Amino acid sequence: MPALIRESGQREVFCGLTSIVWLHRRMPDAFFLVVGSRTCAHLVQSAAGVMIFAEPRFGTAILGERDLAGLADANEELDRLVARLLERRPEIRTLFLVGSCPSEVIKLDLAKAAERLNRQHRGQVTVLNYSGSGIETTFTQGEDGALQALVPLLPPSQEQQLLLVGTLADPVEDRLISLFHKMGIDRVASLPPRRSTELPAVGPGTRLLLAQPFLSGTARALVNRGAELIPAPYPFGVEGSRSWMAAAAAAFGVAPAQVAAVLDPLVERGRRAIAPHREVLAGKRLALLPDSQLEIPLARFLSRECGMELVEVGTPYLDRQLMAEELALLPPGTQLSEGQHLERQLDRLRAARPDLVVCGLGLANPLEAEGIATKWSIELVFSPIHGCDQAGELAELFARPLRRRAALSFA
Ligand code: SF4
Repeated sequence: MPALIRESGQREVFCGLTSIVWLHRRMPDAFFLVVGSRTCAHLVQSAAGVMIFAEPRFGTAILGERDLAGLADANEELDRLVARLLERRPEIRTLFLVGSCPSEVIKLDLAKAAERLNRQHRGQVTVLNYSGSGIETTFTQGEDGALQALVPLLPPSQEQQLLLVGTLADPVEDRLISLFHKMGIDRVASLPPRRSTELPAVGPGTRLLLAQPFLSGTARALVNRGAELIPAPYPFGVEGSRSWMAAAAAAFGVAPAQVAAVLDPLVERGRRAIAPHREVLAGKRLALLPDSQLEIPLARFLSRECGMELVEVGTPYLDRQLMAEELALLPPGTQLSEGQHLERQLDRLRAARPDLVVCGLGLANPLEAEGIATKWSIELVFSPIHGCDQAGELAELFARPLRRRAALSFA
């Protein structure tokens, strides 16, 4: 069993608003309206700054000083702004009101606002709400909040089906679904869907397979709707991806020989793709700071398949049920930490001097300046890293900073 340090104190993580950047790409008929401050607007704009659309699919309703002084004004202004938005953008089918630190501080009730706006715009748009506030959420929890808000809208169903939960890059998802079909699992649905109105059904015949490890609330909500969670490691690296698919196959009674016939060639190819990166990574010491919630599955991949030594594996919060399969695969005695006390964690890092640290953007430059190679954790949620086919690219993401540092020291 891994050793665990629990900490609380100053945290260095992005807030849940960041997940709008990948969610709005996934559901082009949805709009994400942050109810927040200019800081929130800047955060979302700069996180999404590299993407240019004819019409943006997110925006910020800025709470001004007047709103902060009186809730009535804030609600009226929100109603006015939403009416204007929907008039200008009649193609929007789902509108997410996304809470922020300022809306939380003034106790603006966005659930009530969503109810009111649903009444006003019935038939045109569905209005939902969730929190992306930095007080409550780390950046990947934004996706958990958004998906959880969709769960009550899913139609009921008794049919046997596999439900993949968590945003995947479209081509990666197509590939995984085609592999499930080859193994004999015919009905495969996804949450989030590619159109916000084409929601998958859920019910007692649904077996849910999490593609992302940060969806605790969504998983619980789906189980409450009758779905059954398939326990599995997450589909990162060859081993995790194979086990993830094999767990789904077992839940649908697919024979192991059929699973092997479909997956073994991919496993072989994936291992070959990892090999050149393993040469760089093997024996190197790795620390992961708590940020994306992908840390534990990535640590498992990097230690077991790439030969890295784990110095510390941080996670913003530890959901023991959703992480059970991953924890069992970590090397015995791995040092885990849950939560963050930034100064203490940095002291531990400086003492241990790992070769590579996976961390948020804010810590990367200071650590690089101290001579420690870093990898931005946010890159991992923007890159297609799921499945055996992507295992080589995933390993390469970690080998690249070490190669760069080695090249610089020879220059
Ligand atoms: S929600 Fe909070 S942490 Fe996130 S950008 Fe707005 S003010 Fe900053």
